[in-house]
Amino acid sequence: MRTVSHWIGGKPATGTSGRTSPVWNPATGEQQAEVLLASTADVNDAVQTAAAAYESWSESSLAQRTKVLFNFRELVNARTQQLAEIISDEHGKVLSDAAGEVQRGLEVIEFACGIPSLLKGEFSDQVSRGVDLFSFRQPLGVCVGITPFNFPAMVPMWMYPVAIATGNTFVLKPSERDPSASQYVAELWAEAGLPDGVFNVVHGDKESVDALLTHAGVAAISFVGSTPIAKYIYETGLAHGKRVQALGGAKNHAIVLPDAGIDYASDHLVAAAFGSAGERCMAISAAIAVGGAADELVAAVSEKARATKVGPGRDADSEMGPVITAAARDRIVGLIGTGAEQGADLAVDGRGLTVAGHENGFFVGPTVIDRVTTDMDVYREEIFGPVLSVVRMDTVDDAIKLINSNPYGNGTAIFTGSGEAARTFQRGVKVGMIGINVPVPVPMAYYSFGGWKDSLFGQSHIHGPEGVQFYTRAKVVTQRWPHVDAASGSSFHFPTST
Ligand code: NAD
Repeated sequence: MRTVSHWIGGKPATGTSGRTSPVWNPATGEQQAEVLLASTADVNDAVQTAAAAYESWSESSLAQRTKVLFNFRELVNARTQQLAEIISDEHGKVLSDAAGEVQRGLEVIEFACGIPSLLKGEFSDQVSRGVDLFSFRQPLGVCVGITPFNFPAMVPMWMYPVAIATGNTFVLKPSERDPSASQYVAELWAEAGLPDGVFNVVHGDKESVDALLTHAGVAAISFVGSTPIAKYIYETGLAHGKRVQALGGAKNHAIVLPDAGIDYASDHLVAAAFGSAGERCMAISAAIAVGGAADELVAAVSEKARATKVGPGRDADSEMGPVITAAARDRIVGLIGTGAEQGADLAVDGRGLTVAGHENGFFVGPTVIDRVTTDMDVYREEIFGPVLSVVRMDTVDDAIKLINSNPYGNGTAIFTGSGEAARTFQRGVKVGMIGINVPVPVPMAYYSFGGWKDSLFGQSHIHGPEGVQFYTRAKVVTQRWPHVDAASGSSFHFPTST
């Protein structure tokens, strides 16, 4: 059995805990590896190593950092296929989707390659006679990333390229369910010439996370995962004096108006709901069919859901793979049943799907649940599986009110031919990322990514300009270079400009 080890100080580390967790192949249902679970002592080792590396990395020139980042960019680009295969084997998503995830992560690395421009400070000449004022930003120290299973390469790449480019060192605690992508990335960093100890990986569960949250040597924490854990990370990290950004779960709605092209809208809804088996924080899980759109929309979405090819991620014909674990499958299947019991219509029922040759895989078929109401569990819960709920409403204003009364606010979309409806929507909706005829509106790396309400705790969205701000702090310098013979002009009143 292959063992996935930690990566500390530029090499694999076996740790001290003796505890491990299974890594499954979701397409076959078999265990394919075990991952070490770090003890508090292992976390101490990683943080101390990162703190020691910070002493020299924070002093490295922008030219040196940029060179390493460009090398790393080239390596990730060249090894996209290998990385995609690792992701697909442990997560289950289809290869093209895994390669797409690497591409979106690569865009953040490319953004971080521009760090010399991004870190330019401000300068004001002669703010008072003989006095200049300027600002610049410096790194924080050891930064930590705690990441979810659903994007084992991309989500960590939202964090460490920017953290490392700005002069910090990094400890990554990836999901224990698909840990191998992080090991591979650690090797690429070493190959790119990153000094040992700047990028470290500890695998683990709550014990390792708690050790990171409370460690005096950790300056900042970036978290992405479910809402209850995000809230816990935010509150615990803050109580221990750390800078924290904690991105949580989601329930993303798409409004479909009668003037939308139903063929276009249903194509995109199916891709957004069932791509990656619905295990995306930006997946559309609730469609709001307004007015006369509902019957035609449900018919079109159902037909396309039934036609979706479900199979192992490595099979080139598969459009959708399995979900991450047997427990996740059972929970999703249970929620679909609850939907039927609570009075919704199962337009397409994905329970009981078997894939020939992969009978023990963790598969759930695409599911469409019509006439869902807000009191039902399928509406209230983040299902995180291939399940699209359809809610029927009379007006676009009712639909916006519904979205705004939901506790989550990650992403949302509208399908319409009306600019006026789209503008009312984009201005009125209390959500961080908005798509107009675009169902999965993930911003490019040079904008920041983040939701509102229970989808994000903290002030900073991730990557982009807010990422640079998050991983640095400002200094403002007021300077005067008087002639040695000049009168001092000093006085006891508060300094004012002359
Ligand atoms: P999760 O919250 O279970 O786990 C995330 C991380 O927290 C993992 O590294 C895990 O080991 C750790 N963790 C889990 N339980 C913990 C505990 N009790 N104490 C301390 N640490 C703990 O999330 P997941 O199931 O891996 O990922 C899916 C969730 O992530 C979904 O809710 C999804 O919406 C969310 N997500 C959000 C975004 C976003 O940008 N907002 C992006 C991707 C995923």
